Amino acid sequence: MTTLSNFKAKRISSFGETVFATYSRLAKELGAVNLGQGFPDFDPPQFALDALVNAAKGYQQYAPLYGMPELLEAVSSKMSGRLGRELEPTQNVLVTVGATEALYASIQAIVDPGDEVILFEPFYDAYPADTIMAGGTPRFVPLHPQADGTWQVDFDELEQVFNNKTKAIIINNPQNPTGKVFSIEELDKIVALATTYNAIIISDEVYEHIAYEAHTSIATRPGAWERTITISSVGKTFSVTGWKIGWAIAPKEIIDALCMAHQWIPFVVASPLQQASAQMIIEAENNDYYSELQNMYQAKRDLLFSALEKTPLKPLKPQGAYYIIADSSELDYKDDVALCLDFPKRVGVVGIPPSAFYSTEHKKLAKNLVRFTFCKTDEALNDAATRLKENL
Ligand code: PMP
Ligand code: GLN
Repeated sequence: MTTLSNFKAKRISSFGETVFATYSRLAKELGAVNLGQGFPDFDPPQFALDALVNAAKGYQQYAPLYGMPELLEAVSSKMSGRLGRELEPTQNVLVTVGATEALYASIQAIVDPGDEVILFEPFYDAYPADTIMAGGTPRFVPLHPQADGTWQVDFDELEQVFNNKTKAIIINNPQNPTGKVFSIEELDKIVALATTYNAIIISDEVYEHIAYEAHTSIATRPGAWERTITISSVGKTFSVTGWKIGWAIAPKEIIDALCMAHQWIPFVVASPLQQASAQMIIEAENNDYYSELQNMYQAKRDLLFSALEKTPLKPLKPQGAYYIIADSSELDYKDDVALCLDFPKRVGVVGIPPSAFYSTEHKKLAKNLVRFTFCKTDEALNDAATRLKENL
């Protein structure tokens, strides 16, 4: 019998299991409160469940390539308001398998081997992987945590990484894991640099409705629309991360390029879930759902933040999304991984080591950090609060 060897493509050979899989498994094995992977442990709103039941009838075959007409219409109508421009459902929107596929298809569509993609650190872990799989090179720019809990861009550092190989810059706004919401001034500086270097801006806005401070889509800033791909999905907004329905919004020329990649990735996206998403978005637009969601998360943020404040951990207050980064310098751990492997046993709470969101060269910046999510029931958050208080 011959044994299989050397079968792995180089493009995946540097990847390991995602940090989310590792720490969710650990939480289960040890019965710890899982404040690691960011998925809600509570039900989505009733109108989402009703939409799913309604969509079970009549949508069993392939959807059109760009998406079901009802969803293209619902997304373009909602986003026309948010982006302040009349979007054309058949030209400016592509439905994808979650934001994840929108990111992957975007990078496949625009990045050639040798091209560079600029990423802020800490990053969402799919960005460098997507860049590498396209043969591109990620260029990393660390955000700097401040005493007031915000994370700042050093624009000199950012300018230094732009060059004539720069093909794209990815921003995540609001940002996972820091909770950063980019200011208008920051967005304008990013647009100016992207314009100078003829780069595409990919703006991942999956937390667009979970912002505790005013959130601005970069595509609304002067000069940005022509070069921006705005990405979002239903997962975070409707607490349905398992549905995997997302979209990209951009000028027609860019959307058509994305679709050239998309047609060979999933081909098309699950019809009933698109249909349910369309109905859900229309419902949300017609009631005050988005402010309800934001209020719910603001209360959860405050609950976890004040619980962490009562421990030796020093939490940084997020401006958006549903994660809190805390500084663990006062605890005696070698690094963030050591802390996160020990916490489930010592405290009974799982967090994620933020070094997973840094390049090898900058991992040391995360040495004394830990990320907790608060997209969990108040019972789970209170349980975690008690465990943190009693065991730290
Ligand atoms: N971008 C960011 C910043 C995220 O946190 C997530 C959630 N895991 C995604 C993209 C993926 O979104 P989706 O589940 O819609 O693919
Ligand atoms: N976005 C979620 C997080 O950051 C989950 C991501 C995932 O499981 N891939 O925790």
